[in-house]
Amino acid sequence: MAAAHSKKKAALAYRRPGQPNTLVEVGSHVCFGGEKIVLIGGPCAVESQKQITDTAKAVAKAGAAMLRGGAWKPRTSPYDFQGLKEEGLVMLAEARKVTDLPIVTEVLDPRDVEKVSAVADMLQIGSRSVQNFPLLREVGASNKPVLLKRGMMTTIEEWLAAAEYILAAGNSQVVLCERGIRTFETALRNTLDVGAVAVLKHITHLPVIVDPSHAAGDFRYVAALARAAIAAGADGLLVESHWRPAEALSDACQSLTPEQFQEMTDQCRSVAAAIGRTL
Ligand code: PEP
Ligand code: MN
Repeated sequence: MAAAHSKKKAALAYRRPGQPNTLVEVGSHVCFGGEKIVLIGGPCAVESQKQITDTAKAVAKAGAAMLRGGAWKPRTSPYDFQGLKEEGLVMLAEARKVTDLPIVTEVLDPRDVEKVSAVADMLQIGSRSVQNFPLLREVGASNKPVLLKRGMMTTIEEWLAAAEYILAAGNSQVVLCERGIRTFETALRNTLDVGAVAVLKHITHLPVIVDPSHAAGDFRYVAALARAAIAAGADGLLVESHWRPAEALSDACQSLTPEQFQEMTDQCRSVAAAIGRTL
């Protein structure tokens, strides 16, 4: 009963009977929700012009369709690297100029939405912000596609209610991103909820992608989770890669080298082909 009530309240996020998949376009070349799986690659954080441009070139070579990189970083400790902020946005724009890859980057504060929208092609709402309702309303009022990560403690229903905030504010371009949830298991950073991909492809019309990097927390397991995500029906992957992972200022342990990123992509292409999709 409670579920039915909430479902009604998140009417825009749930799939109506017969409703086709929503396609979310980014720039003129990228489309989430179609037959082609969208690969997004790049570092956790923008650290320098050379780091972001060289990483962007490497992921583009491997087949990435978009570049990721945080300019504002939501760090657990206030003493950890918080991102280059405005300077990071300028570097992302330069990397886009060099590679032609559209950019997705996180916006943490409702007051920064305008500033980030002026540069980014897609706005990322991070796990920790999934229930920051003023922020959701603000990106809902923007005209940029939104990549909405699942919170580490949110149910699918709560996550779709968060998407509803954006949709109800007038922005229909929402892509959901499963990135692992907190469970009793501690062997990995989080537990990738592959089942959520299958459920979401059924109950919502919105594209669903997977971030295997923050789920694994360890570069050795990222490719396996990426392959599983494609097999489960994900419409895309968001994967952290760094030209020199050992030097990364955040999420070093889970960042793939350009070679590992290429290898993961090749494996995912085979899985995609097996289910009649391309990457
Ligand atoms: C990120 O993408 O670097 C990030 C901080 O992810 P999440 O919000 O999923 O933790
Ligand atoms: Mn990260």
